[in-house]
Amino acid sequence: MHHAADTYRHRGQRRTLVEELRRKGIRDERVLAAIGAVPRHLFFAAAFQPHAYHDKAFPIGEGQTISQPYTVAYQTELLRIAPHDKVLEIGTGSGYQCSVLLQLTPHVFSIEYNPVLFERTARHLAGLPQPPQLFCGDGSLGLPQHAPFDKILVTAGSPTLPRPLLQQLRVGGALVIPVGDAERQRMVRVVRESNDEFSRQELEEFRFVPLLGKAGWG
Ligand code: SAM
Repeated sequence: MHHAADTYRHRGQRRTLVEELRRKGIRDERVLAAIGAVPRHLFFAAAFQPHAYHDKAFPIGEGQTISQPYTVAYQTELLRIAPHDKVLEIGTGSGYQCSVLLQLTPHVFSIEYNPVLFERTARHLAGLPQPPQLFCGDGSLGLPQHAPFDKILVTAGSPTLPRPLLQQLRVGGALVIPVGDAERQRMVRVVRESNDEFSRQELEEFRFVPLLGKAGWG
């Protein structure tokens, strides 16, 4: 984490953000508490910190974004993380979503394709008491050496359901992924019901940056 302060004022802004997310339909109290606990402003460059508690996506460099808090809460809620779940995130970006996941389970793996963002965020998160396991590479292929996972979260828009991610889910596990074209994607929640059966639920529409890589847009 940056060695910037988390002040009384920031904590107040987070409480206001949590109330806004509640009004927008986020119900899971553990997810709301996680959003209330993670100092989102520390994931922004100093000059942009005043924007950190607006419910908006924001540029983090390299043409990428930190997702909107509503989107982070929505995806996290859909994962229904149990306390010891092993979770894989595709698209570490700023590390904010990863830090929210760490409030819910200590077993978080996250993979980022962009080496500049990877380096920066790995340095940033290294100071956490229980840091996540971070990897640099093509997350559309998952992380086979650490599979299976109870939950997999994709934070970039995918053209399809990447087969490697389905294969790396534990039976009973869930994949949450935005699927669609470059303009808009529908959130999809896939549950691995048995070794070769999957059920699929299609939910709200979002707009994400594209999932690159072999099982993404290339
Ligand atoms: N979860 C991030 C956060 O909390 O800041 C926001 C993620 S941003 C919307 C999407 C991220 O996915 C970008 O950092 C992008 O570089 C990354 N990405 C795109 N394709 C990828 C791939 N195939 N593997 C891993 N990361 C990928």
